Formats: sequence, C-alpha cells, structure tokens
Amino acid sequence: MALDTLDFAVILVLTVAILAYIVKTNFFSEPKSTGFLSADALAGNNLLDVIKKNNKNAVIFYGSQTGTAEDYASKLSKELSARFGLKTMTVDFSDYDLTNFDSISEDTLCFFLMATYGEGEPTDNANEFCEWLENDADTLSTLKFTVFGLGNSTYELYNAVGKKLDQQFEEKGAERFADYGEGDDGKGTLDEDFLTWKDNLFESLKNNLNLEEHELTYEPGLRLEESDFLTLADDNVSHGEPDKTYITGSGDLSKGPFDHSHPYLSPIKYTKELFNSKDRSCVHLEFDLSGSNLRYSTGDHVAIWPSNSNENILTFAKAFGLEDKLDTVFELVALDLTISIPFPTPISYGAVLRHHLEITGPVSRQFLLSIAGFAPDASSKKEVARIGNDKKAFAEEITHKSLNIADALLVISDGKPWSSVPFEFIIESISHLQPRYYSISSSSLTEKTTINVTAVVEAEKVGSQLVTGVVTNLLKNIEIEQNKTGEKPVVTYDLSGPRGKFSKFKLPIHVRKSTFKLPTNPSTPVILVGPGTGVAPLRGFVRERVNQKQNGTSVGETVLFYGCRRSDEDFLYKDEWPQYAKTLGSSFEIHTAFSRETEKKVYVQHKILEQSSKINKLLESGAFIYVCGDASRMARDVQASFAKILSQERGISEEKAGDLLRSYKTQNRYQEDVW
Ligand code: FAD
Repeated sequence: MALDTLDFAVILVLTVAILAYIVKTNFFSEPKSTGFLSADALAGNNLLDVIKKNNKNAVIFYGSQTGTAEDYASKLSKELSARFGLKTMTVDFSDYDLTNFDSISEDTLCFFLMATYGEGEPTDNANEFCEWLENDADTLSTLKFTVFGLGNSTYELYNAVGKKLDQQFEEKGAERFADYGEGDDGKGTLDEDFLTWKDNLFESLKNNLNLEEHELTYEPGLRLEESDFLTLADDNVSHGEPDKTYITGSGDLSKGPFDHSHPYLSPIKYTKELFNSKDRSCVHLEFDLSGSNLRYSTGDHVAIWPSNSNENILTFAKAFGLEDKLDTVFELVALDLTISIPFPTPISYGAVLRHHLEITGPVSRQFLLSIAGFAPDASSKKEVARIGNDKKAFAEEITHKSLNIADALLVISDGKPWSSVPFEFIIESISHLQPRYYSISSSSLTEKTTINVTAVVEAEKVGSQLVTGVVTNLLKNIEIEQNKTGEKPVVTYDLSGPRGKFSKFKLPIHVRKSTFKLPTNPSTPVILVGPGTGVAPLRGFVRERVNQKQNGTSVGETVLFYGCRRSDEDFLYKDEWPQYAKTLGSSFEIHTAFSRETEKKVYVQHKILEQSSKINKLLESGAFIYVCGDASRMARDVQASFAKILSQERGISEEKAGDLLRSYKTQNRYQEDVW
C-alpha cells in the first residue's frame, strides 16, 4: 500500500513530536531534587543562568549516593566562602539543567566531589552528566576545575569515576587549578584523605590563583526562626514525614513513582529472627507491596528509610542543651537562593533529630575543628582544638573508642552541654540521614508483591560505649514488637512514626534497580557465592529457579557456596535449602563452610577450591558466577580462588586466569553485589 502526502505529513508530525518528547525527557531531563530549593532558584534552572543571577564564582558539584560526597561538598562550600571570600554554591547534578555547561565562564572555579558506586559506576545523580561528558561533550576550554574522588579500594575499579572525570576534563582542554585527590573508604581514611587534599587545594588557591586566606568563621546559609504560634498540633507542621506529600496527604500515596525523594510507606507483614544466638541477631522481614504500584525484579536493592533511636536522640539533645526544645516548631529561611532547605518545614527540633540527622555515626576531625568556636568554656575550647589538630590524639581518643558526635563533645567538655552551638550549624554540618540499601532476598517471579530483606543487626560494645546501627536496630525493634517475643532491645524506637503513620509496622522504602541479574536463559548454569547476609540475593535467585522448574522450564545447574560461623547458630535459611533441593533435584548443590567448627578456619573460598574440576567444567559450559556480601576481603579472596582454579585446570598462568575473569566481568558472566 502506497503512502500519500497526507500520510507522510502525519508521520512527520508524529515523529517530530516523539523526538521532542524523547529529547525533553531524556537529555538532562527535568531535575529531581531531594532538597527544597527556593522557587526563585529553580525558576529557569539552567545552571549557568543561576550562577550568573546569583553572582557565584565557585561551584562545588557532587556525585553522591550515600550522602558523603554531598556532606563534603557542603562543608567545602562553607569553608571556601569563609576562608577565601569565594561566592560559592553546591550543585547536585540532578537539580539543574546543564545543557550549555560547555560555555561555563572562566571566572567560575569548579570543584567536583565524585563518589564511585558499585562496579566503577557514577552515582545515580551524576550518571547523566558522566554519560554526556563521555559521549557528547565537545571542548571544555573555559572550564577551570579540580576533582576529588571518593572510593573504596576493596573494589577493583577504585575511584574509577573521579579518575575518569579528571582525565576527561583534561582531554577536553579544561584547566586544572589544583591537583586531583582521592579518598579511600576501604582503608577507613576517607576523612583524612579529604583533609589532605583540601590542604593542598588551599595552597593552590593561594599560590596559583593568588587568593587571600582568612581565619575560618561560621557563616550560616540558613536562618532558623522559631514560631510563636505554630505547634506540633498544626496540620502543616512536619513531624518528620518522609516528604511533603505525607504531610499534606495530597494525591494517592500508594501510587509512585517511588524513589529517593518519595518513598512508599510499606506494611511489614512478617518478621522472623534467623540466628540462634544470645548476642547476635539477623532479621528476616517481608514488605507487602500489594495495593501499591511499587515493583521490583529479582536481584534489585530495597532502600529502607531510617529514624534514630530514643536513646541516641536524648544523648544528642543533652549534648547540645536541646532537651526542652524538642517540641518547639521552627521555619528555615535560605539566606541565598541557591541553598536548599534540606527537609520540609515548619518542623520541630525533635523531628529533625529523629528523622533527618545522622547523629550516631563516627565524628570527623574536621567537625571538631569547625565546632571549636562554640565550645561551652575555655578549657573545652582548648581540648577540642587539641584533639582536632592532632591526628594521633583524634584516632586514640575519639575514633578507636567509636564515639559519636554527642558522646565525643560531652567527653571533651566534661559533661557540659554545648548550648551555644546554633541549630543552623548543626543542620549544615551534620550529615543528613540516608536510606540504607538491602539486597532483596525474594524472587519477583515467586512473590511479585513481597520484598524480603535479610539484615544482620549491628550492635557492639566498644569499651563502655554501645555502638549501634540505625536501621538494623529499628528492624530488630519491629521484629520484637511484631512477634511479642518479650526480648529487651539494645536501643528503642518510636515505631508509630510521624502522626502515627508508621503504626501497625510500616516503614518508608523505595527500590533501586540493580545490574545483579540471573542469565536470561534459565538453562545456563550458575555458581553462587554468598557467605553471611551475602546469601540474601542468592536466595532470591534460587527461589526464582525453583519457580521456573515448577513451571516446566528447563533450569541449569545451581551450585551455591555458603559460609557462616556455626551450623547451629547463624546458618541462614537452613531449613529452606533442602526444600529447594527437592524441586531442583541433582541440579542443585550447596557447599557450606562453618568457620568456627573446625580448628583451622574454613571459608567459602576454600570450599570453592575443593570443587575445582566441577567449577571448571561448569565455566566451560558457560556458567555465570555471582558473588555477594563483604567487599573488604571475601570478594577478593573468592576471585583469587576462581583464578587459581582456571590456572590449574587449564594449565595457564594465574595472570592469564585473572585476565580471563576480568573478561567474564565485562561480559556480565562474573557479577558482584558487595558492600
Ligand atoms: P549504620 O547506622 O549505617 O552504621 C554502620 C556501622 O557503623 C554499624 O556497624 C554501626 O554499629 C557502626 N557505627 C555506628 N556509630 C559508630 C561510631 N560512632 N563509630 C564507629 N562505628 C559506628 N546488609 C545486610 O545486613 N543485608 C543485606 O542484604 C545488605 N545488602 C546491601 C546491599 C547494598 C547494595 C549495600 C550498599 C549495603 C547492603 N547492606 C546489607 C548493608 C546495609 O546497607 C547497612 O549498611 C547495614 O545494615 C548497617 O546499617 P545500619 O543503619 O544498621 O548501620
């Protein structure tokens, strides 16, 4: 059938419309902010226009997944402003339209704080910018830049994003005004590495750009105004709801999209303690998605939104003399249009401490130095400056004792509250609570509307200090309450949530897509390695294959390596594996390593070596390898075992075997989900 002129015209109009839609939605698509920028700053949010309109000459960009790079960016921005009089702003790539970034003015200094996530990938908020730089950017001859990478050396592609960005900027003709630097979370030196880079950066600003340095003083970017008339009883006051829609109740909260700026408040329908131990705990939870349009696929991660424990909130309030103010309501005013208000306001002090600030993690030396000016008396000021300026003293007296902010300050001041610290300083200097990620341990094929999580509870005594993880203890509290076990939790939480919205066991969650996926062809054999909670997504994989087999699909071999301390203490899902074996038959094998049952410790990497010939045969027949769990040593030791097997079984050098494994990784035949 021939097309006439009218047909062509219609096709042309449709094509143009579709192309326009694709360009609009895909290329530096509409910004999605987690913060609350003022309407003026967002109106026409082209970055270069915003820089010009707000008369800025220093921009600190951050690629952040867990909030660390964002936190560093905010601190650097304040320090550059206070020390060098630069007119600074921080930029989340996903907040701005960056289409004409290549025309940035030579008068703007650009600082890039770039975290590397997973297998050498950019963070979600920097992904589009990195793709643009790689594929579409032309010359960047007017860009003046410096880069600091945040990474973890236990991953093979250490600081890949920071390094690549630094190199690409140079290749595109940009001018580096201070050397590249990088920090290593794997060695626990990230803070110190950042401080070293910052010292060098300041030297470059003074020596190369002739900027004059002044003494550091705190200049607030926000003004807090306590309300004379608003109370917690008012409808528009935030009690710590995850976002504004949960305060106003506007729209259908069961319909997404759900993401890092808007979670789904999911019921938890079932919980169970998985360990058989007096002092260690691991919780299995089932989130019920039915009635919502939140979906996941096997291997994805679920992010659980945290809140702080009652005990930690009280200690923090005591350290800053805030005990009587927890119910007082305030508003925040941005003193600069480019500064975002980090959470919905009006809000109470108590809600900020419970739902928005990371009050328990380790303290940084930088933080102690910045708070010194607000010390409650001369001797505390001297003491905080002593510890803040001495790396060794800081390590011995703060880090090794695992003191958090409140505990450290109370030790330094001998119990006196730091009441003169402005709350604006606290909001601007302390990291904001971030969701914690968990590898989903269910299969979307078997349980479409249920997300399973397997979380080991973080709680230990360091000297007299009780150190607790935020989310895992919250999950344990839920398990105790739901099952009415009568157990006494290590720390307690308000499980009813803001305005009772979390009552009957609910928590805010969202799903993050992952690349950790089973082969598309179910008959491909898989080798699964997951000691401890590393078994979480692998349980999902096995359940998926059981489902496929039950539905008549031909399923390839599934060989699982699992490790823990003792078979009768922390063997996760011990009763389930025999049931899976019943369905999968001889195509399923589980090899276990119980490290504390024999004189010589046995780990999964040893069990893998015991199966050398079988593993080689499976790999020859196209098997995929999946490794999940501890990133610090396990992943590397397991990879070394596979390299040894390939070398021995195929008579090739270990170096060549290593290259082969790397090529498996690029073909997605060797996948890791490690943290
Ligand atoms: P946090 O509050 O984040 O604390 C982290 C650690 O620091 C804890 O050990 C805590 O005790 C310690 N700590 C707290 N305060 C201090 C201090 N002042 N000084 C020193 N140390 C301190 N975990 C699982 O259990 N199962 C999973 O399936 C799983 N999957 C994951 C998948 C991905 C992709 C990622 C990135 C992580 C995954 N994790 C998983 C880890 C998980 O995200 C959390 O990091 C973990 O559960 C701890 O969270 P938390 O809030 O309890 O502890």
